[in-house]
Amino acid sequence: MTLTKGRLQEFARSAGLDLFGVANIERFQNAPARMSPQSIFPAARSVIVVGKRILRGGWRGVEEGTYWPGYTYFDYHGLLNSFFIPHGLYELACFMEDYGWEAVPYYPGVPESQPPPEPLRKGGVAADVHLAIRIAGVAAGIGEIGWSKVFLTRKYGPRQRLAAIITDMPLEPDPLPEPRSICDRCMQCVRGCPGAIPHMKEGRTVSIQIEDKVYEWADVDMGKCTLMYHGGDPRVSPFIHRDLPGYRFDVTEQEISEETAYKLAWPMSTGRWRKTEEHPSGFIIEGHALLSLWGIGEDEGSSYGIEGSRGCMRSCFDHMERAGRVEQTYHSGPFIRRPRWMLPSKVEKSGQD
Ligand code: SF4
Repeated sequence: MTLTKGRLQEFARSAGLDLFGVANIERFQNAPARMSPQSIFPAARSVIVVGKRILRGGWRGVEEGTYWPGYTYFDYHGLLNSFFIPHGLYELACFMEDYGWEAVPYYPGVPESQPPPEPLRKGGVAADVHLAIRIAGVAAGIGEIGWSKVFLTRKYGPRQRLAAIITDMPLEPDPLPEPRSICDRCMQCVRGCPGAIPHMKEGRTVSIQIEDKVYEWADVDMGKCTLMYHGGDPRVSPFIHRDLPGYRFDVTEQEISEETAYKLAWPMSTGRWRKTEEHPSGFIIEGHALLSLWGIGEDEGSSYGIEGSRGCMRSCFDHMERAGRVEQTYHSGPFIRRPRWMLPSKVEKSGQD
């Protein structure tokens, strides 16, 4: 039996993947060499982009201010990124190779390792090539990048994560989405973010062109975003309020790079300190450290969500659902149903708010 695009799509769905789209390799012609699928697989003809929804319920506990572990464990760096999507993706790649098409599964990690600066092949591309998975998603016709830089689809709004297969199988590409056909520039992502972060850097935007279409989004300040998300700001972390009495910090006042933000937030969140009468847990911020253990990373812990994308995810899909701009609907109505919580950026000396 011949392998067709329809059969691949059907297989992907049966493997638990909710989204499927195809880009031909020509759509990556403007990509820098170190972000091009052809730098990984020179014979590539197509890029298949798949996605799986993030459950709306994954954020419920954070939205209510009552329960954090589920989001990190299932929906953020735990099972969704590390098992649910890779499992379906890998099965799909195996299916393709059974039919003689080479299939390179692409895990959308960020380039955190330090590559050798020189190409390993003479005249070639230096190692540590990484696709921009959201741009690949646009090229595959699945959705567009919203103002917030989060990838949006008609089916789920901002609620999905993506992965890809680079293959030498020629496939019919899916139609490109019309720019701004999913994101309506409502700016709820900015209003809902504690740092008002989609939060353009110096008023700049980023734009790309694929075929005749130009897509544009905010040049998000990733330093502030990373610091906020990973628990650097007392306003979104009840755990800081428990463990750092007297502390005062406002992410919006920081002007730092993404790397510097990680350097600050990560050790502070996952680090240990001696056990004392005042701080018996042995952690700097016990709640953050224990949450990181709910990610996938064994003893060392792994990435964890504290702020829980208050603006760019929760405010965004709440708006899109209310405006009837996403296909998935819920019997219970809007996601945000009560005034939202926010703590002060100064922690009371007693540790109590
Ligand atoms: S909240 Fe979502 S739909 Fe509204 S501007 Fe931001 S990204 Fe676009």
